Amino acid sequence: MTRNDVDGWVRVRGAREHNLKNVDIDIPRDSLVVFTGVSGSGKSSLAFGTLYAEAQRRYFESVAPYARRLLNQVGAPEVREITGLPPAVALQQRRGAPSSRSTVGTITTLSNLLRMLYSRAGTYPTGATHLAAEAFSPNTAAGACPRCQGLGKVHDVTEDLLVPDSTLSIREGAIAAWPGAWQGANLRSVVRGLGIDIEKPWRSLPRADRDWLLYTDEQPSVLVEPEAGRIDHGYYGKFWSAREHVMHVLSQSQSERMRERALRFVKSMPCPDCDGSGLRPEARAVTFAGRSIVEMNAVPLTDLADTLRMGVDATGATSPRAAAKPRNE
Ligand SMILES: [Zn+2]
Repeated sequence: MTRNDVDGWVRVRGAREHNLKNVDIDIPRDSLVVFTGVSGSGKSSLAFGTLYAEAQRRYFESVAPYARRLLNQVGAPEVREITGLPPAVALQQRRGAPSSRSTVGTITTLSNLLRMLYSRAGTYPTGATHLAAEAFSPNTAAGACPRCQGLGKVHDVTEDLLVPDSTLSIREGAIAAWPGAWQGANLRSVVRGLGIDIEKPWRSLPRADRDWLLYTDEQPSVLVEPEAGRIDHGYYGKFWSAREHVMHVLSQSQSERMRERALRFVKSMPCPDCDGSGLRPEARAVTFAGRSIVEMNAVPLTDLADTLRMGVDATGATSPRAAAKPRNE
């Protein structure tokens, strides 16, 4: 950004937007400035209707036509003259509940421009197909990680929740998440039928067996032999891992009590497929200036301009606009 002020002041002359009565005002640059006043005194007309509208109008004229549709244009303000005004970003007070998916980037539409940059000027892995700008947002069907639907978080089970006491054997109920009563006894018989020791303390079972019992999505059926005092005749019993059981209850059960019990065994954690970004892998594989769009979103605003400039230099383009040249517009 170039500084076009000469003395560190923004000077407004003859502002008449809405209820402003030909206001002249000098506002210091690079300072925290507060406009106060009773409701209806013209604070918003001055800050948003005049200063921001004019800054945006100037910015708007500098961007390519295809980029303009991504910006919400506010009309030209009623004012005689403004000098010393830099490019500006406005965060307005929002009506209604802000979405948990909102960020400074989404509110300012800076995210839209960044997504377009990645779509048009990003470096794609060999063989990857071109992605539209929308595919770089976790909030769209095209961009959302299939596993977490773009939320970046998943609810999943962990061993210490499923097995709170690892000194217990499976027969003693080590897998606390499994159902009780007949179903629980059935699962223990099935596990024994699979050749896994149900008398040993949980923690002395091989890691591979423990992981399989807790997390597998395989559901083998095994012959459960008759057992004196419990089972009169043999039958085929189906295995469910602890995770399958918990997830099945959470997604299918109508019983509030069972759902509450199942919730004790899950916790919210960053989605392992997208590392918590919510963005599908194809989009995260595209880079600009050596960074994925997820990494670029994490760059502090103060460093963002320099980082983007590096990327532009690397592409050999002369300006960000040239680098972001559309393919077919
Ligand atoms: Zn995900």
